[in-house]
Amino acid sequence: MEAVAVAAEARERLRASFASGRTRPAAWRAAQLRGLLRMAAEMEAEICAALRADLAKPRTESYVHEISLVTSSCKFALNNLKKWMEPKKVPGGLLTFPSTARVTPEPLGVVLVVSAWNYPFLLAIDPVIGAIAAGNAVLLKPSEIAPATSSLLADLLPRYVDSSCIKVVEGGVAETTALLEQKWDKIFYTGNSKVGRIVMSFAAKHLTPVVLELGGKCPVVVDSNVDLHVATKRIAAGKWGCNNGQACISPDYIITTKSFAPKLLDSLKKVLNKFYGKDPLRSEDLSRIVNSNHFNRLKALMDEEMVSDKIVFGGQSDEQQLKIAPTLLLDAPLDSAIMKEEIFGPLLPIITVDKIHESFALINSMTKPLAAYLFSKDSKLKRQFERNVSAGGMVFNDTGIHLTNQNLPFGGVGESGMGAYHGTFSFDAFTHRKAVLDRSFPGEAKARYPPYTRGKLKI
Ligand code: NAD
Repeated sequence: MEAVAVAAEARERLRASFASGRTRPAAWRAAQLRGLLRMAAEMEAEICAALRADLAKPRTESYVHEISLVTSSCKFALNNLKKWMEPKKVPGGLLTFPSTARVTPEPLGVVLVVSAWNYPFLLAIDPVIGAIAAGNAVLLKPSEIAPATSSLLADLLPRYVDSSCIKVVEGGVAETTALLEQKWDKIFYTGNSKVGRIVMSFAAKHLTPVVLELGGKCPVVVDSNVDLHVATKRIAAGKWGCNNGQACISPDYIITTKSFAPKLLDSLKKVLNKFYGKDPLRSEDLSRIVNSNHFNRLKALMDEEMVSDKIVFGGQSDEQQLKIAPTLLLDAPLDSAIMKEEIFGPLLPIITVDKIHESFALINSMTKPLAAYLFSKDSKLKRQFERNVSAGGMVFNDTGIHLTNQNLPFGGVGESGMGAYHGTFSFDAFTHRKAVLDRSFPGEAKARYPPYTRGKLKI
């Protein structure tokens, strides 16, 4: 069947299932969430094997960053489902007296989730959890760039959840385009901002609301007033320990002062040698680059003429294995491609400034990042950073870990995206909050009805 016919048929089936009311009861929602929990537990080995095939992802990372986060999202949703679904009473207004008022959450309908390759299990299932908790029918389109995980999801989901209401359609640009042409009640897209614009233009045709989870250049500011060893370990864990830098919230570049840079560099080198050994290309603890397109893109960033002599550590690569070693660059020019584009890989430029406060203007001169990090013990500097730097999220003295807190919204601002999810925010992303006003028959105000005579208004 052609992509358009597949997309239209899947959407129609989901629409019929949603219209039947099947997805609305709490019991259905909870059963699906429990199904996903069972899938994550029973299929752990298969999921890790698919992630290894797609990205050579180390098993610890697969478990900690993908499977366990899916599990905790499911549990959080299960624990809060009843509370989330309850209408919330609000005060009745004077003008509508006598009446009661409430805000009633209702599912949006049939939603489309389009996900990315870098965390191909987590980024596919996590939004689906929110969509199910909110009582929607869902179509998931996993990323074709992670084909093993995509086909595993297509195989597993029908075995663990209600396939009349939760479907997977696999494919690349043609299949995604065919899906985007259909009318959905929400589109949840994770990926780059160029495609984000395409998604939004399709959505505009049907006035479909969107959540766009995009990327950008996440800065890490390192002040001299830090515990340097802890700081460098946490920077390394958020960069190379997250899919070898292929993560949307990975540190993209560091800003520090000229005077502190040598110490920071020295500490980073020591930590990297300890983590990945003298020959990092052979380390089992580093993911590979996802494919040759991205490998060549990253090589081109390193090889640019004005950048290649700025490499101060690493730089090795192996095209056969699609591996690139952790690489540090000192003071790459701000107009080089590596400082203008999102890196999304193991290269980490360090930019030096005279005074740490100059970092604010530098960050704000670029597009708004998905995450911004500051390492410092100086609480005044932290307050100033929080007030003056715009970012989807912010972490002090660590990197990336904010996404594990279900009480925090996860999403971008400006170029890094719109809308948010995780925890309650996932439920909200797929819910319409319906205003409900309930009046009784007594309590007529004569002035409301024509003829509008002065006597009625008493003016
Ligand atoms: P990708 O190549 O997997 O693309 C994402 C999805 O878009 C896929 O399902 C793909 O099929 C679809 N797609 C690609 N081209 C398309 C087109 N022309 N028309 C319609 N659909 C199309 O992933 P990617 O974009 O390379 O992902 C990396 C980017 O995503 C980075 O910018 C990263 O920062 C961002 N990201 C953001 C988050 C987040 O949560 N905010 C998470 C992961 C990645």
